[in-house]
Amino acid sequence: MNYCSHCGSGDIRLEVPEGDNRLRYCCPVCSTIHYQNPNVVVGCLPVFEGKILLCRRAIEPRLGFWNLPAGYLENGETVEEGALRETREEAGIEVSIVRLHALYNLPRVNQVYLFYLAEMPHDQFHGGVESLEVKLFSPADIPYHDMAFASSTFAIRQYLDHLHSDFHGVHVGKWE
Ligand SMILES: [Zn+2]
Repeated sequence: MNYCSHCGSGDIRLEVPEGDNRLRYCCPVCSTIHYQNPNVVVGCLPVFEGKILLCRRAIEPRLGFWNLPAGYLENGETVEEGALRETREEAGIEVSIVRLHALYNLPRVNQVYLFYLAEMPHDQFHGGVESLEVKLFSPADIPYHDMAFASSTFAIRQYLDHLHSDFHGVHVGKWE
């Protein structure tokens, strides 16, 4: 951080504020402390007749790799609204949320993923500007070696591993 987003000062200092125990970007001009916290990424695991919908990324990072439809939660929306929006934007389909399926922590890159299991009302979908291709995959054909992020792989594996189990809770994982 080079400039204060509050007052425009270029005198930003990395220091521990009084009463705090972490380094923060502090502006000595307007006394604003610029807290930086993890981002929430929300998405869906859309299913149609036993197949899983994946999008091939048209944007960096990981351009060309497959991913569940997901993206950053926006201000002013719930996690459910964000997951449905990302699925609409990246896969061109309105899905129905079944339940919260997976929570994946990525403390090294300051992100938390939330994936919702979702039902597709039909198999009509299309890529948006962020997807090169959108496709339904049978469990045996999931492109595990060409997945964009470990978070999607985790959500898919947990879904398939527990397909016939009675567990309908949230699968919690962590990227080491
Ligand atoms: Zn300032």
